[in-house]
Amino acid sequence: MISQNAIDALRKTEIGARGLFIDGVQTDGTEGATLPVISPIDGRPFASIADGNAADIDRAVKSGREAFDKGSWSRSAPAFRKKVLVRLAELIEKHADELAVLGVRDNGTEIGMAYKAEPLSAAGTIRYYAEAIDKTYGEIAPTADNVLGLIHKEPLGVIGVIVPWNFPLMIGAWKIAPALAAGNCVVAKPPEIASLTLLRLAELASEAGLPAGVLNVVTGRGAVTGEALGLHMDVDAIAFTGSGPVGRRLLEYSARSNLKRVFLELGGKSPNIVFADAPDLKQAAVVSANGIFRNSGQVCVAGSRLLVQSSVYDRFMAELLSATTRLKVGDPLDLSSDIGAVSSAEQLDKNLGFVARAVVEGARLVTGGERILAETGGSYMAPTIFENVTQGMQLAGEEVFGPVLGVMRFETEEEAVRLANSTVYGLASAVWTANLSTAHRMVRAINAGVVHVNTYGGADITVPLGGVKQSGFGRDKSLHALDKYLDLKTAWIAL
Ligand code: NAD
Repeated sequence: MISQNAIDALRKTEIGARGLFIDGVQTDGTEGATLPVISPIDGRPFASIADGNAADIDRAVKSGREAFDKGSWSRSAPAFRKKVLVRLAELIEKHADELAVLGVRDNGTEIGMAYKAEPLSAAGTIRYYAEAIDKTYGEIAPTADNVLGLIHKEPLGVIGVIVPWNFPLMIGAWKIAPALAAGNCVVAKPPEIASLTLLRLAELASEAGLPAGVLNVVTGRGAVTGEALGLHMDVDAIAFTGSGPVGRRLLEYSARSNLKRVFLELGGKSPNIVFADAPDLKQAAVVSANGIFRNSGQVCVAGSRLLVQSSVYDRFMAELLSATTRLKVGDPLDLSSDIGAVSSAEQLDKNLGFVARAVVEGARLVTGGERILAETGGSYMAPTIFENVTQGMQLAGEEVFGPVLGVMRFETEEEAVRLANSTVYGLASAVWTANLSTAHRMVRAINAGVVHVNTYGGADITVPLGGVKQSGFGRDKSLHALDKYLDLKTAWIAL
């Protein structure tokens, strides 16, 4: 674990102006434009990034294509790729303190969570796919005796990776690691408000021995660089995590350009369902509070809709309120803070807009609902709970992506299922019950990519993550994610 001394030594490090990372080197953007990097901790700029454009994306894609065609990565032995990627995982671990503090200055996640979720988890992910790739076999088809049907697995080419600001390193690694392990080249477009850690990752990858052009990072505004990547004629696939509206655009870009594959991990409005027979209501309340409020609710799988069975409603809400008010919101670089800053002033305003609308629509504010610690200049929000949320209210159906929980009551299992499945999303969910049959019935009945039982969050790299319905398609994590970055080629050989 990172120490407070280490954090304090790193929190004022000079970052300066960061360029793009193309063809193995840091380089300025074509037009030399920059964007300030504002820390949500105190609202002050502390660095700048290049404001890339379509020409920069084109340079990066060309570099990726040349590296791919050269073959020193794409056609190398999987054991070689494994060696380089394991070295990268080791370098990330060696620089974990630096990466964690850099990321927190950028996006405001509390350091305790950021340290594990960003550098450590990214290193684990990279090691996982590095270790998997020299154990990934092609197939021999069960054909007639006079032919041989071979199924080869091949990299696709150049993969565009576009990620959001909540966990850019972890989510970036979920895509970059399997893509690279499979032999592809990558052009990554980090989120404009949290680009620094992926730029550093590219430098470390180079130090680990990744050939030039295999991993490029182009910073800049999504509507410019993201669009250029999505429309590029020489990008073979886009792996995206972010919002639904941008996901839709990427599908359009694909249709308007070269029909590149698009994998979308989008938002959620995940139901967290507490049955009266939950094994430990107090524990369920503590985990549920963490499941929505950590990282200021900026977690795609956050349990943002709480459904509680009527007979335990009052008891559970008392426990939830007590667990929530114990959470300390404060400087994300202070190890004693349970919750850090909201990622930006704009996101904070958006959250407060949801609060205002919930009040107007008749939900009852139980706690929070306001900006706090304004004197710091940073963006902090009190964990917020609304009850009496009903179907049709904004809070029942739209993702806030902030520390705002909407609570509903239910009487029966059927009603819980109906409410759980009532949004356009289907990313995560949870069920709290001591009854094994109820748990299994709910796992089957809930339309979501993940159903937690008697816990929330924490699913590791061994299991897939992704959604159904408008939460997207294509899975990150686990061996299944490798399939997205490998194509099948048939050799049909007469004997
Ligand atoms: P966003 O969609 O606004 O941005 C995501 C990325 O897309 C950023 O890098 C952005 O620069 C880029 N982008 C913006 N406009 C673009 C365009 N026109 N073309 C191409 N790229 C463009 O999302 P956000 O605000 O960064 O993140 C929050 C959203 O991400 C939430 O909806 C959240 O649920 C979702 N999310 C999902 C998961 C998951 O695994 N399913 C994980 C984290 C976040």
